[in-house]
Amino acid sequence: MDVGRHPNIELLAYSEVEKVDGESGDFRITIRKKARYVDEEKCTGCGECAEKCPTVISDDYNMGLGEAKAIYRYFAQGIPSAYTIDANHCRQFHPKKKCGVCAKKCQAKAIDYDQQDQMIEVGAGAIIAATGYDLFDAQKTPQYGYGRIPNVITALELERLLSASGPTEGHLYRPSDLALQKDLSEQEKRSKKLLKTLGRHEKKFGQTSDEFYPLYESGELQGKDYDKWAQQLKEHRELTQEIEGKREKADKIAAAKRLAFIQCVGSRDIRFNRHCSSFCCMHSIKEAIIAREHDSEVEVSVFGMDIRAVGKGFEEYRNRGARKSGIRYIRSRVAEITENGDATPVVWYEDTLTREVRQVPADLVILATACEPASGVKQLAEILGIELNNFGFFKTGGSQPIDTTRPGVFTCGCAQGPMDIPESVAQASSAAARAAQILLKG
Ligand SMILES: Cc1cc2nc3c(=O)[nH]c(=O)nc-3n(C[C@H](O)[C@H](O)[C@H](O)COP(=O)(O)OP(=O)(O)OC[C@H]3O[C@@H](n4cnc5c(N)ncnc54)[C@H](O)[C@@H]3O)c2cc1C
Ligand code: SF4
Ligand code: SF4
Repeated sequence: MDVGRHPNIELLAYSEVEKVDGESGDFRITIRKKARYVDEEKCTGCGECAEKCPTVISDDYNMGLGEAKAIYRYFAQGIPSAYTIDANHCRQFHPKKKCGVCAKKCQAKAIDYDQQDQMIEVGAGAIIAATGYDLFDAQKTPQYGYGRIPNVITALELERLLSASGPTEGHLYRPSDLALQKDLSEQEKRSKKLLKTLGRHEKKFGQTSDEFYPLYESGELQGKDYDKWAQQLKEHRELTQEIEGKREKADKIAAAKRLAFIQCVGSRDIRFNRHCSSFCCMHSIKEAIIAREHDSEVEVSVFGMDIRAVGKGFEEYRNRGARKSGIRYIRSRVAEITENGDATPVVWYEDTLTREVRQVPADLVILATACEPASGVKQLAEILGIELNNFGFFKTGGSQPIDTTRPGVFTCGCAQGPMDIPESVAQASSAAARAAQILLKG
């Protein structure tokens, strides 16, 4: 918010650096401002367009756990609050489809399907690369079942489930249960539609479906219209049975109570990343404490080689998690996660203290995936003319931890390695100070 309002800061959202010329104190930067097909100046953020847009897509911000529309706002507090059209899914951009609903609904006349990417030139004395990180793809550890076992999720997905503005409004429903509810609601819609169609057949032929079907089966009624009626009736009957079964299951849906966190997924592992991702021990404990605050019956186990609580008050926070929220820290390296009949994941691990192989069922398994260099970091390093370190993050000097290998280009936060928010913010202040030193030289 402060950045958005600051008179000395120009925010170029939905934009990427394409070229950097010049040198420290006098850079010329070419930026591609991507077309959002909505005029930022005109859009009031009212959301009328998205409400009426017929194209439903997966909600990326909610990690695919919810739905968005082809015209969307990435998240509610985003700046600017303007909406954006996803041209890959919007019907108006499809060669064989047409739509235009949002343009009709937008009273501010902000929709512009012909908008093009804009190239902008900016002069700058210094550059700060703060492009953050990406998370390790948990499917690279197939033994943990991510993507195959629905109730094995990542810590970021749990963040969204725990959020009051998330897809479940903060209730810890399991993805398998959410999928069941979605299926049920789609089948109920289909069933309603079929019922209407059957009603039309009944009206047309002056008999009920129950009267019609035995006559059709005996061959007394023949013809295309009867075939269609019979087929739709069959579908409706099968659907009704399925819906009943699912309703029974849906009535029993309860929020997850047993949570198992698996630490170091892709971190401290020579197959993937040798480095420690530094923030995952603490965010797992934080998520566990929040889950317990939401529901006092939640039981949490954290499986890890050790808990790295490096920071002021972090060890105390770890201990408070155990004392007040009942977190069990289990020193182990999890070998495998399987699934039993009712979609419950089972965690198999060796307890390294007793040297016993054990198994624990959990309603939800949460993978603390590694912090990795952001995608596209190599390309950006080439554009900026800076080097990467052995781990693939921006390389910095030992005595000047904010300086990259090119004078006048600085970096901060997870772009230079895993770190938490307070450390990223502190580094951002340092980077701003280093940049100011150059600007003050004039
Ligand atoms: C599940 C989870 C929970 C966490 N919880 C906490 C917590 O409670 N407390 C805490 O302190 N830390 C927490 N963290 C860590 C926290 O996310 C990081 O410390 C923080 O996000 C680092 O900030 P950053 O600005 O360096 O990077 P990011 O937050 O990754 O921001 C980088 C930004 O740059 C943009 N970008 C990337 N490439 C480009 C490009 N080429 N051009 C333009 N823009 C680009 C990205 O889209 C992104 O918006 C958590 C992490 C995870 C995974
Ligand atoms: S594009 Fe138009 S309808 Fe959509 S949020 Fe902006 S002003 Fe509202
Ligand atoms: S043109 Fe249609 S499909 Fe595309 S964003 Fe607008 S309402 Fe949605």
